[in-house]
Amino acid sequence: MDTLVDGIAAIAASLEVLKEMNEIDQESDLPSVKLKIAELTTALASVQVILATTQQEIASKDETILTLQQNLERQKTTIEREGFLYDQASDGSPEGAPYCPRCHQKDGVMMRLTESERDEFRMECPECKATYAVVARSYAEQRDKPAII
Ligand SMILES: [Zn+2]
Repeated sequence: MDTLVDGIAAIAASLEVLKEMNEIDQESDLPSVKLKIAELTTALASVQVILATTQQEIASKDETILTLQQNLERQKTTIEREGFLYDQASDGSPEGAPYCPRCHQKDGVMMRLTESERDEFRMECPECKATYAVVARSYAEQRDKPAII
């Protein structure tokens, strides 16, 4: 995290300016004091910007961690069929549309596949646009269909 290193450097620079201000004879050298105050103001302004940037980066990483934790929890209740992960119903059977294997393997993201608009025989990931020839588009749909006699 470069911003933290930059922030620490900016704080060190601010402290150095304060140290130099302390060494100036403040009653007889007012222009030097004013110059050091201007330097200190600039240094502290950069610290403020760096801290704000760091706060945004931390918030973004917190969001990523939360998503990955949710995906990890979801994986505990999934079941694999023919290379695809599905939600696991209370009876242990697969339920709903499969998750995108590419997004899961690449980013750890659980993204449900949807029917492809370009090819009726394939399913597509709304995130990475990968398409798959999935045998079971949705186990819930198959289970709910009435048996043909
Ligand atoms: Zn995907």
